[in-house]
Amino acid sequence: MKIIMLGAPGAGKGTQAKKIAAKYGIPHISTGDIFRANIKNNTELGQKAKTYMDKGELVPDELVVDLIMDRFKEADCANGYVLDGFPRTIPQAEALDKALKAQGEAVDFAINVEVPDENIINRMSGRRACVGCGATYHIEFNPTKVEGVCDACGEKLILRDDDKPETVKNRLSVYHEQTQPLIDYYAKADVLAEVDGTQDMEKVFSDIVNVLGA
Ligand code: ADP
Ligand code: ADP
Ligand code: ZN
Repeated sequence: MKIIMLGAPGAGKGTQAKKIAAKYGIPHISTGDIFRANIKNNTELGQKAKTYMDKGELVPDELVVDLIMDRFKEADCANGYVLDGFPRTIPQAEALDKALKAQGEAVDFAINVEVPDENIINRMSGRRACVGCGATYHIEFNPTKVEGVCDACGEKLILRDDDKPETVKNRLSVYHEQTQPLIDYYAKADVLAEVDGTQDMEKVFSDIVNVLGA
């Protein structure tokens, strides 16, 4: 099963993608996580990506597309995947379609997690990410057992630099300009499903399971 998560930054794509991956036994592929791992390891790709990410802009398509095409070659992708944060532009979606088509395949579901802009700043300023394992929490909606400490691995939690309100505003306008058009794109391809992302996490997930099938 090949699934794409659509939605504004902070809509809950990562949260839901992890649950989907666990239930359906497919890998969760987050381009943001891949870039952050590259930044942490100070690779050339990480250095390039960081200059865009810090400003809340998108990393250029060619960098992202090559990266994701390499990731698809790994063995764990044989039964599909859930993509979180890719595609984010029409050219990225076209590159994905072309690559899949060459193998007689196609995207099965594009799930749009809908959350209005007014909820986003609050979601992002409360998001905390683990420096060790990348798990995400929310200080109000999904708190850790011990404040500032990851439940999964015990490492400390941080507020991502690009989750500060100034950068979030720019990320939202980039989202509306460059990523939102994908909703129409996947509606035309007849694979779009919309879920109300303002509900609690478990309800959002059960709506998604209704779409994907148990
Ligand atoms: P969020 O969790 O808020 O949706 P991500 O972790 O997916 O954010 O992405 C963080 C940043 O990484 C983006 O603001 C962008 O700079 C970069 N990025 C991630 N995926 C892509 C992509 N497919 N195309 C371009 N830039 C990307
Ligand atoms: P995205 O990957 O779309 O950027 P995340 O999954 O990282 O979004 O979620 C953004 C923040 O909002 C996180 O702190 C997460 O714990 C929290 N969150 C996710 N889903 C919900 C929800 N349904 N209700 C409240 N908070 C949520
Ligand atoms: Zn952790």
